[in-house]
Amino acid sequence: MIYDNIVIGSGISALGCVVGLLESNKKVLCIDGSDNTLESFKNINNEEIVFDNDNLPLKKNSITAKFVNQFDPIELQNYPSFGGLSNIWGAKCLRLFKNQFDEWPISYDEIAKYYETCEKIMNVSHYNDELSKKLGVNENIIDDSKIKLYSSFIKNFIKQKKTPVDFNIGLARLALDSKCYKCGNCFFGCPDNYIFDTKEYFNNLINKKKIEYKKNLILERFILKDSVIELKFKNSQETKIFAKKLFIGAGPIQTSNIIMNSMNKESDLNLAESQNYFVPCFYYGKNFDSNINNQTAGDAEIISNKNIKHDIGQLYFSIKYDQKLLKMVLKKKLGFLYNLIPNFLIKRIFITAGLINSNHSTYRAIIKKEDLSLHVIRDYEKEKKLKIEVFKQLNLLGKNYNFFAVNLLSKFCKFGRSFRLGCSVPMLNEDEIKKNKNNNLYTKKNGEVSKFKNVYIIDSSNFKNIPAGDISLTIMANALRIAIENKND
Ligand SMILES: Cc1cc2nc3c(=O)[nH]c(=O)nc-3n(C[C@H](O)[C@H](O)[C@H](O)COP(=O)(O)OP(=O)(O)OC[C@H]3O[C@@H](n4cnc5c(N)ncnc54)[C@H](O)[C@@H]3O)c2cc1C
Ligand code: SF4
Repeated sequence: MIYDNIVIGSGISALGCVVGLLESNKKVLCIDGSDNTLESFKNINNEEIVFDNDNLPLKKNSITAKFVNQFDPIELQNYPSFGGLSNIWGAKCLRLFKNQFDEWPISYDEIAKYYETCEKIMNVSHYNDELSKKLGVNENIIDDSKIKLYSSFIKNFIKQKKTPVDFNIGLARLALDSKCYKCGNCFFGCPDNYIFDTKEYFNNLINKKKIEYKKNLILERFILKDSVIELKFKNSQETKIFAKKLFIGAGPIQTSNIIMNSMNKESDLNLAESQNYFVPCFYYGKNFDSNINNQTAGDAEIISNKNIKHDIGQLYFSIKYDQKLLKMVLKKKLGFLYNLIPNFLIKRIFITAGLINSNHSTYRAIIKKEDLSLHVIRDYEKEKKLKIEVFKQLNLLGKNYNFFAVNLLSKFCKFGRSFRLGCSVPMLNEDEIKKNKNNNLYTKKNGEVSKFKNVYIIDSSNFKNIPAGDISLTIMANALRIAIENKND
């Protein structure tokens, strides 16, 4: 069977792409490697969590339940599931700032209209705050009605800014339905599905027969044959499916593997990550609301505009106030010692979760052509600089926002743990393509892979770098852009 457009995956990138392709009248087939459906994700005990080997938690659901005691972040990202990582993500959807596109062939202005469409699909609101001003968001899409869904702690925290320091601060932009009733359970999974994931949207498209969907087909490689692309599956040799255009959104590791297999393992590929760090902080401010049962996934976002000691680019800090989760993690880490900490102290602890641009992160990886194994490389010099800069910036932030960071208990995560990977087949601009003497693999601005006509990458594998911040909204907007630019012959 020959299809006009085939999309691989059912995550956020695949959804953005499908929405764009549906603007043409051509048939879209969506193929996912998992055998689960919307139904198989329901009725899961959402009070459980799993930990990685650094005792960092993740909610338990059909994906993570596979890992009984401890999850491995890389293995988890390789595991196919209907909805992909949108089943367990934090649903934070801030756009990237204009300067974060500096190295990319696309600009903020080119992608802004796609951001708007994706924000509507995912129920993301903009607020009348410093972040919207910095982003230059159209005033007609600003809607403050969801501010009531953020905890008093977060709202009060933001208000404290004393002087115009070199940070931009505001409420996290959340993919959250306004029907949310603030039960504080977000991390464990919303019982009413008010946190956006892609499954419901895909299910509607499938039921209304707007797209064709095939599950349980794991794409291993593709072969270019005359004017069509033949798909070869790992778990079904007999299935014969051909595409005129193929859009791959299998997530950064699987997409890279599919491309490498299709190149007959001709060369290694690089993989970059925006590294995650967690620093517990103690709040000593006066305006403290201890109503801890009245919160959502809502964080405060802080983006630094200036380095203090080391020139390592923008840092991103997310202020997370989630007492239920914090208590579970402290119990796991401290064992019986946990009982010795008085509750009034615990109530004042929040976690700062940060990210740094992949260009400056401590780790990078090479996917080896021989066996597709990941070879992780650690840069100790970068690690030292990152730690110094993070602690200095937190110290400055603390003075403005009435907290101190407990640096000794900080955790700078290993490769893979931020789940924000990519850049294996980066999007190059015209100049870089001309200078590409070694004929390295890249994607063109329209998403097409340099060595494969009509094969497009739609996930973060085509990013130029992984910026310090949340990337899923940008992944989706970019996938939508690629689909719209390529929907016709
Ligand atoms: C705990 C956690 C919290 C996060 N929080 C945030 C956040 O708050 N904000 C944010 O922006 N981002 C967040 N992220 C990152 C975000 O989830 C990902 O960037 C995003 O979901 C990636 O979407 P994707 O479509 O590119 O890939 P995926 O979600 O990985 O989807 C890949 C899809 O491809 C399918 N697939 C894989 N291999 C094959 C194959 N060989 N053949 C066929 N199908 C295949 C899979 O089944 C899956 O459906 C978080 C991630 C995690 C794990
Ligand atoms: S707080 Fe979170 S879990 Fe509770 S209703 Fe709102 S979205 Fe759902």
